[in-house]
Amino acid sequence: MRNVTELTCCYGCGVCTAACPHALLDLVHDRDGFYRPRMLHPDRCTACGQCLRVCAFLAEDPPAVEPLACRAVRHADPAVRLLASSGGAAPALAEALFRQGYAVCGVRYDAAARRAGHVVARRPAEFAACTGSKYLQSYTVDAFAVLRNASAKVAFVGTPCQIASLRRLVALRRAEERTVLVDFFCHGVPSALLWESYVRRMEHRCGTIRRVAWRSKCREAAEAAETLARGLRPVQTASWSDSYRMTLVGDRATLSGRAADSRLFYDLFLGDYCLGRACYERCPYRGFRSAADLRLGDLWAAASYGEREGVSTLSALTPRGEQLVGALGNCELDPLSPDDARAGQMMCNARRPRMARAVMAALRAGLPLGAIHLLLVRPDRLLGSLFRRITRLIES
Ligand SMILES: Cc1cc2nc3c(=O)[nH]c(=O)nc-3n(C[C@H](O)[C@H](O)[C@H](O)COP(=O)(O)OP(=O)(O)OC[C@H]3O[C@@H](n4cnc5c(N)ncnc54)[C@H](O)[C@@H]3O)c2cc1C
Ligand code: SF4
Ligand code: SF4
Ligand code: SF4
Repeated sequence: MRNVTELTCCYGCGVCTAACPHALLDLVHDRDGFYRPRMLHPDRCTACGQCLRVCAFLAEDPPAVEPLACRAVRHADPAVRLLASSGGAAPALAEALFRQGYAVCGVRYDAAARRAGHVVARRPAEFAACTGSKYLQSYTVDAFAVLRNASAKVAFVGTPCQIASLRRLVALRRAEERTVLVDFFCHGVPSALLWESYVRRMEHRCGTIRRVAWRSKCREAAEAAETLARGLRPVQTASWSDSYRMTLVGDRATLSGRAADSRLFYDLFLGDYCLGRACYERCPYRGFRSAADLRLGDLWAAASYGEREGVSTLSALTPRGEQLVGALGNCELDPLSPDDARAGQMMCNARRPRMARAVMAALRAGLPLGAIHLLLVRPDRLLGSLFRRITRLIES
């Protein structure tokens, strides 16, 4: 293989674009709405193989890692917990990293481009917009180019596949001493076609969407950066365990709760109807398989904590990661067993529901999301639950 553009499937992590010494690669959406590398100047490729070397999709699967220690984490500031997706471990980590002179690369929603994208934050205020999960595949090209700088001290937060390729690039650049890698238990990423279709539908009601909060625990979550910067106290409107929330701030209105029709988005995403091909066929990063120093997650065993604002898990996978946990301030840490940390997480590849291919075809054809949900997803889910009930009845 001459370069990564010959691959027929990949993670779309974009690390090859930062590895190419001649900056010949970009990321573009394929027809299913997932990022793939594209060659900008085929005649200039020297077949040096750097892009192939860093690609985690081409590498051997990582071994299972036994975490050095796992903790339940709650940011001490309830306002930060309300704006983060679980307990605010990621913002607490970012604060510790800034104190140690790192820039922190996280994900912000770019309303103009209607996409999530990694950005490099050099100050805490710049990282505020990265608080909270954006359940989309992120565009990484501009931010990951920071690794071309031979002296930058940077920490990256990303999906396990993004982090696995970054680990290989960091090793190639001998940048281990000045890089920290953080990933999370990952469900998968949905097709950008789903997001575009959802945004088109909702913009009829609220005007051009300026800000978005996924799994919002309060309406202010969509304005996380401004809320934190202005020292405002968000008001809780839903429990963190409600994974189907969304808040959209449009030109004409703010939509939250039922008004945001978020079921249309989450039924397709969390129902696994339109995940990336690798999320179904080749994700070796389930459980504690990871190339990161630290792994974040939701503490789904948190019922015992009686917590409405959310609790994160933070698992140290390397001595570097454990050192960083020691530097955390401004949060409560409780020891956790690895079994409790991974409780409720996906442990193998996502399973394609019967209607997944039909849903993807309908998204490609531009059918309205309401129709796709009504005609394909709802009947499939109803049938699935009926089938499960009958099986349970027969088994009992
Ligand atoms: C696509 C996706 C799938 C996920 N699946 C699971 C799962 O199955 N189980 C689970 O426990 N947790 C999952 N998470 C992580 C979870 O949503 C929380 O982010 C995590 O529990 C940490 O929350 P927090 O409160 O500590 O901090 P938060 O502030 O909520 O942390 C979010 C961090 O993730 C980064 N980030 C946000 N969006 C993206 C993105 N699109 N791509 C890469 N990085 C991003 C941000 O920069 C931030 O640093 C997923 C996240 C994403 C983006
Ligand atoms: S490095 Fe990432 S984007 Fe590039 S080919 Fe490999 S998986 Fe795809
Ligand atoms: S083979 Fe080398 S020159 Fe060609 S795209 Fe890959 S990194 Fe760039
Ligand atoms: S499920 Fe696996 S392949 Fe899919 S985005 Fe997450 S880490 Fe990458």
